[in-house]
Amino acid sequence: MNIILFGAPGSGKGTQAVEMCKKMSLRKISLGDILRDEVKKQSTLGKEVESYMKQGLLVPDEVVGKVIKETITGNDFILDGYPRNDKQAQVLDNILAEKGLKIDYFIYMAVSEDVIVDRLSKRRVCPNCGAGYHLENLKPAKDGICDECATALIQRADDNPETIKQRWKVFSDSSKALLDYYRNNGNFIEVNANGNIDDVYNEVLQRIA
Ligand code: AMP
Repeated sequence: MNIILFGAPGSGKGTQAVEMCKKMSLRKISLGDILRDEVKKQSTLGKEVESYMKQGLLVPDEVVGKVIKETITGNDFILDGYPRNDKQAQVLDNILAEKGLKIDYFIYMAVSEDVIVDRLSKRRVCPNCGAGYHLENLKPAKDGICDECATALIQRADDNPETIKQRWKVFSDSSKALLDYYRNNGNFIEVNANGNIDDVYNEVLQRIA
């Protein structure tokens, strides 16, 4: 099964993707994680994308299209963070057609702006394994330490008030055309992602069962 998880930054797609991957034996392809890794390594790609990411802007479509083309190698994946606009959706359709693959579900995690701001400003992540936490709703067993690999948690560089605002704007500007694209292409599921992690997860599972 191949799934696109779409939602604003902070809609909880990363968290849901981890749970769904475990339950359904799917591979999580998070474009944001891939790009952050490249920035950390200071590779040519990392240096190219760093300033866009710092400002909360989208990396150019051609650049991310190449990354996705190399990363999708077969069935059974969840795409988290790609596509983010209708142009990327068309690029993805071409890549999938070339590889003889298709998307089974497009899941839109709808969430309000005030919930996003709260989630992102209180989010903490593990720089080693990518696990995500929240200062109130998803605390690690030991304060500031990752449950999975015992690394000290950090706040993402783009989870600051100014960049959160910019990312919300980018999302609002680019999402309408993308949502229309998938609404018209079938297998479109919208879930209310304002609730807690378990409720959202159960709703997603029910809808794709
Ligand atoms: P995320 O971890 O999904 O919030 O992504 C973090 C940042 O990576 C974004 O603010 C963009 O700068 C970049 N990025 C991730 N996915 C994409 C994409 N599909 N297109 C362009 N830039 C992206």
